[in-house]
Amino acid sequence: QPRVTGYFTQLMSWVDKVRNLNVRANADTAHDALVAREFGAQGIGLCRTEHMFFDEDRILLVRKMIVADKDKARDEALKKLLPIQRSDFTEIFKAMEGLPVTIRLLDPPLHEFLPADAKEIKALAKQMKVSPAALSKKIHSLKEANPMLGLRGCRLGLMFPEIYKMQVSAIIEAACKLVKKGTKVFPEIMIPLVGHVEELRQTRAQLEEVAQEIIKKSKVKLDYKVGTMIELPRAAITADEIAPEADFFSFGTNDLTQTTFGLSRDDSGMFLPEYIEMGVLERDPFVSVDVSGVGELVRVAAEKGRAANKKIHLGICGEHGGDPRSIEFFNSIKLDYVSCSPFRVPTALLSAAQAAIRDPKP
Ligand code: PEP
Ligand code: MG
Repeated sequence: QPRVTGYFTQLMSWVDKVRNLNVRANADTAHDALVAREFGAQGIGLCRTEHMFFDEDRILLVRKMIVADKDKARDEALKKLLPIQRSDFTEIFKAMEGLPVTIRLLDPPLHEFLPADAKEIKALAKQMKVSPAALSKKIHSLKEANPMLGLRGCRLGLMFPEIYKMQVSAIIEAACKLVKKGTKVFPEIMIPLVGHVEELRQTRAQLEEVAQEIIKKSKVKLDYKVGTMIELPRAAITADEIAPEADFFSFGTNDLTQTTFGLSRDDSGMFLPEYIEMGVLERDPFVSVDVSGVGELVRVAAEKGRAANKKIHLGICGEHGGDPRSIEFFNSIKLDYVSCSPFRVPTALLSAAQAAIRDPKP
C-alpha cells in the first residue's frame, strides 16, 4: 500500500523546485530506508551500526570481541560478525539503490555492550570458557565513570582496529558484489567522534588499505567516500586541518550540543525545563539548534572546511536535521543536506523550501 499519493506528491514536486538543501534520512534497517525513500529521502545520512548488534545472538559475539584478552578469541568473534554485517549492508544498499548511504562505524558508549548483571556475565563466561570471576574482573577494568566521554567512536576504532576493519570489509564487500550485478551503490564510510586530524588520518589509512584490497580483488569500479562526523568543539574549530583528510563532514549536533554546553544529553531534563521557564535559555538546545553557540561552531567549521577542501560535502545528522527552525539556520549557512528520521523527511523537505523562500540568496 503506497503511503505517498496524490496531493502529497504534487506538493512535494513544488517543494523540490524551490529548496536548496537536500534531505536524507537516518535509518539503520532496510525497512526504515524504504520508508524514508518513499517519503522522498535522497539518501541515508546516518546509518548507526550500534543497534545492529543488540539481537541476542549478536550481542554475545560483540561482548566476546570487546572483553577478549586473546587476539584469537577476538578474531573468532569478528569472523562470525563479518557475514552478518555484510548482509545488513547489502539489504540497505539494495533499498537505497542509486542514492548515497552513509554508514557510521561503531560508536557505542562501551558500557552499553558490557554484560549488565551476574546472569549475563555467567552466560558470556560459559561461551568464552573462562571463570565468571575472571570475566567480572576484566569487565570491571573496562567500566568508565563517564562513558559518553570515554572509549567511543574513533577511539574505539584506534584501540581495536580489527572492529572497524571488519565493518569496512563488510561495507566494501557488499557494495562490490552489488556493483558486479549492476546495482548502483554509493557507500560513504563515516568515522565518529573525531577531535584531532590525526585520529582521522590514522583511522582512514587503515580503512583505505582494507577497502583498496577488496576492490582490487573484486575487479570492479566502486565510487565510495570516507568522511567524518564533526561533533566535538575541537573538531569544529580545527575543521581546516581535518577537511583535507575528509570527503565529507556530517555535523553530529546531538553530541556537539552536549559538549559545547557541557550538558549531558541523557540528563538534561533535570533542569532544562526550569532554565527555559526562567529565561536562561529560550528553548531546548537539543531540539532547535542554539544558533549563537552550537550553530556558530557549525558555521565556522563549514566555512573553514570549504576553504581547505573545495570538494567537501557538508551535512548534518543530529536530531536538529528534522527541526524546521534549525533547518532554516542550516539553509542560511548553505549546508548541502540535512538528515533526519524517516517520518520527519516530508516536514524537512517542506521546511527546506520555506527556508529557501524566506532567504532567497543564491
Ligand atoms: C550526534 O551526535 O548528533 C549523532 C548524530 O550521533 P549520535 O546521536 O548517535 O551520538
Ligand atoms: Mg554522536
